[in-house]
Amino acid sequence: MSKTIRQLWHDEFYRDDMCILCCNTGEVQASRRMPGGYTFGVRVPCICPNGRALKTGLAMQANAPAKEPSR
Ligand SMILES: [Zn+2]
Repeated sequence: MSKTIRQLWHDEFYRDDMCILCCNTGEVQASRRMPGGYTFGVRVPCICPNGRALKTGLAMQANAPAKEPSR
């Protein structure tokens, strides 16, 4: 028996429609900069350790246009 990481997270850390690790609804707000310079908010799964430090990496990516994520 094995679980996906998301199932594990859901079973262990999701209570009353809330992630008990980051106290969000299971999603956190992050901003993402698109080609062309638009920035908009997106809701992304937290998949914890504290919403992956509340998506710090993603926010840093959004603010660092020189560093494109590889595809
Ligand atoms: Zn969380």
